[in-house]
Amino acid sequence: LYLEQPLGAGQGLDLSRDHAHYLFNVMRLGPGGFVAVFNGRDGAWMAEVAEAGKRGGTLICQHQIAPQRNPPDLWLIFAPIKKARTDFIVEKAAEMGAARILPVQTDFTNSDRIRQDRLQAHAIEAAEQCGGTFVPVVDDLQPLSRLLAAWPEGRALIWADEGLADSAPPCPPPPAPAALLIGPEGGFSASERDRLRRLPMVHPISLGPRILRADTAAVAALTLWQSTAGDWQ
Ligand code: SAM
Repeated sequence: LYLEQPLGAGQGLDLSRDHAHYLFNVMRLGPGGFVAVFNGRDGAWMAEVAEAGKRGGTLICQHQIAPQRNPPDLWLIFAPIKKARTDFIVEKAAEMGAARILPVQTDFTNSDRIRQDRLQAHAIEAAEQCGGTFVPVVDDLQPLSRLLAAWPEGRALIWADEGLADSAPPCPPPPAPAALLIGPEGGFSASERDRLRRLPMVHPISLGPRILRADTAAVAALTLWQSTAGDWQ
């Protein structure tokens, strides 16, 4: 269970109405029952139900069951596509260890608005389902041009360039700090391609000879990065 509260031995944790409903009605826990909790910063803890009410409740944090584990400093930048596919990208990016997820408007992006709160909830749910201790921040939608104009020094921008699909094998991406950039259904416009090609921090990569759908490309790029530059041993 994800809670936005400090965790530590003996710490009391207040439950919202939604959490109380989930624990006491869905999971059928009562006083004396145990649940694993995390907040994205302090590892995972076992907590005991102290009070169970209809509109809330209290847990008491007992002992740590997993240390905090943060992913490498990798961002995923993507152009939102249809709702279910955008949800998929955020969920998979959270599972695959993206540290930050940044939806961007590109010239061919179909949507001009996203539900940032819904996408953040998907990232939290993915971490909950996979026993993670870290939750990536999902930013609000911003123009790609604005993000490029304020690009942080020292971070490589790995551009999944569909234009390279036919001409180059998949190539190893630079290590963290880095960001992967995936385009929308229509790919990048000629002027975006021109601009990206001229920026010094940009590393264009191929994901292989087949053009992938945007959501598949996000998962493929995350896998390529994690397997060559990531933190697995
Ligand atoms: N129209 C399809 C769809 O419905 O999603 C394909 C979209 S593809 C142009 C979307 C993005 O995925 C591209 O802008 C690029 O970032 C990435 N991509 C897909 N295939 C790729 C490849 N073989 N190499 C590099 N990037 C690729």
